[in-house]
Amino acid sequence: MMQEGAFREANPDSHDRKLTLLACGKINLCLDVVGRRPDGYHDLRSIFQSISLADELTLRVMPGSDGIYLRCDHPGVPEGPANLAWRAARLLLDRFDGQAGVQIDIRKRIPIAAGLGGGSADAAAALLGLRKLLELPISDGELARIGKELGADVPFCLRGGIALAEGIGDVLEDIPCSPSYAVLVVTPRLHVSTAEVFRAFDPAKVDRRPSVERMRGHLERSCLAGVAGEMVNVLETVTFALHPQVAAWAKRMQELTPGAVMSGSGPSIIGLFADLDHARRAMAELEQEDVFLWCGLPAPRGVREVK
Ligand code: ATP
Repeated sequence: MMQEGAFREANPDSHDRKLTLLACGKINLCLDVVGRRPDGYHDLRSIFQSISLADELTLRVMPGSDGIYLRCDHPGVPEGPANLAWRAARLLLDRFDGQAGVQIDIRKRIPIAAGLGGGSADAAAALLGLRKLLELPISDGELARIGKELGADVPFCLRGGIALAEGIGDVLEDIPCSPSYAVLVVTPRLHVSTAEVFRAFDPAKVDRRPSVERMRGHLERSCLAGVAGEMVNVLETVTFALHPQVAAWAKRMQELTPGAVMSGSGPSIIGLFADLDHARRAMAELEQEDVFLWCGLPAPRGVREVK
């Protein structure tokens, strides 16, 4: 008897239903913390943007089986119930009338614990993929509510694109625009704890806050210089103090583009460029360094089917 959580090879002769999806990472173009809730969570105002840096998830439904069998090619990612995609699958299987198991194969491309929402993206892909494979009558709104149980960023990852986010990041309003810039991501190889950064956040130490309203206007008018001017993340006050290396990378990115800021609670630093050529040239300047580097375009959706 297989342990739930251990991976099981699919039977090539079976008629398993299968779906492969791309789960896009997200960046914060700006981030403000506007309050603290009694439950310890913080209220944010932020602009979320999907990027085409994506994990690949293959889902296989195994009728008549039970359990969730997850495998990931990155050793730092949990393969059992601690994985957000595993938990997403559990929540949907619990709503399925018949008996079915699920295999989840994750090819990790988004750096982990990087401020790029990789775990949330995987959870969103698992929710959307399994809703389809199991033919579950769950509305988008209900799926977003299930997603929120898994993590504050999951509702955004389910829709993706570009949105103004409030609440804990779950109250979303799409911004009607088609961003034409390219994104460069630099992720220093160090661990930043999101919980620790939020715990240590002190509004008195913030001397500049972003205006999400102004940023929204610049995005709608496709004014990259205006967007660059509003790229402020108040959590930099904490992460830069805890990890001076991250501050040094932000400075380095600012030498390459005026549109540079930390994403989420870090350590990733993002830079916006007029097009891919400019982003690639900037990336080439950094290639000798021991950091994760990626450049590419914004993604219009959070999750996309590939086959
Ligand atoms: P957050 O700011 O919400 O922590 P993040 O993008 O900085 O998001 P993730 O890549 O989502 O960080 O990973 C945070 C932690 O979540 C990891 O250390 C890992 O142990 C755990 N985790 C659970 N599921 C996944 C997953 N599918 N992919 C990556 N990490 C996962």
